[in-house]
Amino acid sequence: MTTTASAFDAGQIRQSEAAHVLPIYRRAPIVLVRGQGARVWDTEGREYLDFTSGVGVAALGHANPGLAKVIAEQATVLVHTSNLFFHPYQSELAEKLFRLSGLDRVFFCNSGTEAVEACLKFARRYWFTRGETSRTKFVALQHAFHGRTFGSLSVTADPHYREPFGPLVSGVTFVDASDPASLDAAVTDETAAIVLEPIQGEGGVRPLSREFADAVRAAAERTGALVIADEVQSGLGRTGYAFYAQELGLAPDLMAIGKALGGGVPIGAALVRERIAAAVSPGDHGSTYGGNLLACRAGIYVVDQLLEGGLLEHVQRVGAHFERRLTELASKQPMVKELRGVGVMRGIEVDRPAADIVEAAGPLGLLANATSKTVVRLLPPLTITETEIDEAVSRLDAAMTAVAGGAR
Ligand code: PLP
Repeated sequence: MTTTASAFDAGQIRQSEAAHVLPIYRRAPIVLVRGQGARVWDTEGREYLDFTSGVGVAALGHANPGLAKVIAEQATVLVHTSNLFFHPYQSELAEKLFRLSGLDRVFFCNSGTEAVEACLKFARRYWFTRGETSRTKFVALQHAFHGRTFGSLSVTADPHYREPFGPLVSGVTFVDASDPASLDAAVTDETAAIVLEPIQGEGGVRPLSREFADAVRAAAERTGALVIADEVQSGLGRTGYAFYAQELGLAPDLMAIGKALGGGVPIGAALVRERIAAAVSPGDHGSTYGGNLLACRAGIYVVDQLLEGGLLEHVQRVGAHFERRLTELASKQPMVKELRGVGVMRGIEVDRPAADIVEAAGPLGLLANATSKTVVRLLPPLTITETEIDEAVSRLDAAMTAVAGGAR
């Protein structure tokens, strides 16, 4: 279905970007101008089902009326005050995040990488305050992605992201998530924290096994090392659980969240246990924007949908449908090697560059994303319906058929 073209000129926008914007992204040629629910439209009025949701951000879909109302309302009252003063909404959002996570205190920032950065710093600060000043090391996982600032990049595994920027933070060991014994060997009395994504997102949608989660718990108990769960992508309902760490039986000491939290308004947060919070002093860390009124109002609206709006149950229901439909797709398409994921966080491992499939899907009206070279990643809004999933899977099926060279 198409609507009328917009007032924007796609060619001119691409040209102007090429002249003035740092060429740091490999963008698809599509120029998006409008969204509604799980759908977005480009300059020519072409409609797409958005199974990226801005890399897991637009949790409530695009132009969600309730979220839009809250943002618009707040924009006319007070957007930002900095952290020099109190305002009414940080504590309200913090209390709701406590109800969702069980973690006592919140530091607000603006992105996922900042949330991870804060967790790494707070973990080190905890041991420093306790006088264990040599306890500075981190154990992270192969295939991990935690962001691109120096700290979060230091616990990110991919050499492609790391190498041009060395030397990074020292004392990081990477272990293989399919080998719990390697974790046991790496975690010592000098480990400040074990850092993990309960489901690795950028690394190819790889849920950690229960066996590995058990090994994390055992290593933390044995050495006292803290556990940092990076739920930036997997958290806040994407899997049908508030946080996937809980489902794995982990009780992290610190947790990084972002993406979905503001539904599109930039906000991140580090959630910590009381004993970590007690080790931190005023001035240790901070953020000018972190937790401003606009971002917190958006966060409160999103978290309310998880706490009281039935969104977790919805994701569990549509997530099961999604899995059934993808299983059917896999039985038809020999290029599919493996399906991974939970809820509405899904990865399809294929026997060729995933980018080929993603590229073919665009003109067929489906936005998806390729990660880890051979994985088609699907991250629709949490509000996605079964009908929209059916539509998306059939477009993906057509894209795979086209890539395989078949006719349809
Ligand atoms: N951690 C995880 C697990 C992520 O998936 C991402 C982004 O994809 C980040 C951290 C970094 O978040 P941001 O891009 O908001 O800084």
